[in-house]
Amino acid sequence: MARPDPHSFRDDTQPVVGHLSWDVRADFRTRTLDAVAELRLRSAGATRRAGGLLDLDTRDLTIVSVTADGADAAFELGPADPVMGSRLRIALPAAAAAVRIRYRTSPCSTALQWCSPEQTADGTHPFLYSQCQTIHARSMLPVQDTPAVRFSYDAALQVPAGLTALMSASAAGPGERGFRFEQRQAIPAYLLALAAGRLERREIGPRSTVWAEPSQLAAAAWEFAGVEQILATAEKLFGPYAWARADLLVLPPSYPYGGMENPQLIFLTPTLIAGDRSLVTVLAHEIAHAWTGNLVTAASLDHFWVNEGFTIFAERAITTRMIGRDLTELRAAVGRADLEADLRYLAGQPELTRLRLDLSGIDPDVASSHVALEKGYLFLRAIAESAGAERFLGFLRDYLAAFRFGSVTGEEVVAFARERLPGAVDYDEWLYGSGLPAGAPAVSSPLLDAVVAIGQAAPEPDVAAAWSADEWQVYLAGLGPPVPAGLLAELDSRYQLTASSNPEILRLWLTAALNSGYTAAVPAAVDLLGRVGRLKFLKPLYDALARNPDTRVLAQECFERSRGRYHPIAVTVIGARLSQADGSR
Ligand SMILES: [Zn+2]
Repeated sequence: MARPDPHSFRDDTQPVVGHLSWDVRADFRTRTLDAVAELRLRSAGATRRAGGLLDLDTRDLTIVSVTADGADAAFELGPADPVMGSRLRIALPAAAAAVRIRYRTSPCSTALQWCSPEQTADGTHPFLYSQCQTIHARSMLPVQDTPAVRFSYDAALQVPAGLTALMSASAAGPGERGFRFEQRQAIPAYLLALAAGRLERREIGPRSTVWAEPSQLAAAAWEFAGVEQILATAEKLFGPYAWARADLLVLPPSYPYGGMENPQLIFLTPTLIAGDRSLVTVLAHEIAHAWTGNLVTAASLDHFWVNEGFTIFAERAITTRMIGRDLTELRAAVGRADLEADLRYLAGQPELTRLRLDLSGIDPDVASSHVALEKGYLFLRAIAESAGAERFLGFLRDYLAAFRFGSVTGEEVVAFARERLPGAVDYDEWLYGSGLPAGAPAVSSPLLDAVVAIGQAAPEPDVAAAWSADEWQVYLAGLGPPVPAGLLAELDSRYQLTASSNPEILRLWLTAALNSGYTAAVPAAVDLLGRVGRLKFLKPLYDALARNPDTRVLAQECFERSRGRYHPIAVTVIGARLSQADGSR
């Protein structure tokens, strides 16, 4: 037997799940899913012919019954590992074709957030949504929760009257047992997704509908109106879109990420609705994942850069064609600053700054940083700059064709690149080295250089008046710390940054201000931490508050007060960071 994924009990000598039929009732009163998962098994290996075992991943599930091909099957639920959850081991009869598991989820399922009406934008109805990446699908259903296994699915999802249910799949029309869905393409478990809330829809493109709570619908439709242009640009670069629809769903403010590339139904944080279309980069990112990540998938979280580095590269290839190189470089500069902040944070754990990780026994959410995204991007950019842009684009298309609907390790990617683009870069240094290689590509453009040249001075009013949100972000990301108190006060009084309505500007401003001891920004930071649950905002702000002895207690109090509003993933990640800050005092 072999367990190739350090975060899954899947044994690669056993049969694999090829199709899921999922029958789910969402009980908002008990905050549980009452469900039956039928897993159809593929691969008629020796084990399956002779009968044998099937090991599945679960977390906090109550297993009611298990049958295999219609007859009761013996099963054993193992002890709960804090990172992995519990192994569900099922004894299979000879040549078993399917197992059927009746079970209930726990109210503290790590995938699911059951929002009360007060936690939604409109405040009228409850809202349920899932976030299965990284290893949370197992808290929603028993499954081989590794990106190396892909399955198609159909589902029936019952939700209370007045709520609309959506999944990462095509709607198959309402049936007797609630909303019905079908995903014909094989996906890894982390791309399974569901949501239910008081939702309305608006068409914003020939293959795109945006779903949102009624009060946010018009603003969301305006903000994301460019979706078809992004799709068309991506198709020109990477080939046909494989997922039929590209619908969008705006989540409640507690959503822990910017977006999630769930097939056919991209999840987006409402913090992207800035009113100026300045943050649709995230939409380009999630659409790019339709190729890099969803079509070709990292084999495990030890190779997460294979999803994220390729996707940042693809996102910037798309935006370069849509808004030009100059503006795209501004965004790459903000990404570089985020990466450098994470490299500083991880200075004592250099093994987490490698692209090739070894996360055995480590919670992948807690270990997650900009390294997979931005160092992965710089790796690919280094190859592209060495090999030439056109040649690299050809390589990228060959890569997508070669591994389509499959999963790959970083080693396999590098072997593929070495063969086609030999000597382009020092592949081993990029894959296995910690930190950034000395010759990492420099981000530069005339627009960017003009902002960077201002350094730690306040921009002149006529200069700032002409700035886009991107230029403000680059400026703030490059400010410090430490930033002189006088400059912070001057910037704030001149440009009202503490009151900025652009969440990215606010995040960078508050981070710079808190890291430099500018206490006037503390109330705004606490207010933001109470309103949103996006980890990109929570991490730097909680870190900054916890680092400063004057606000350390406030950070803990703010977390205790707000944690009930955060998604379980955000609670785990921020809880771990605060106790680490506490321990390093
Ligand atoms: Zn991504």
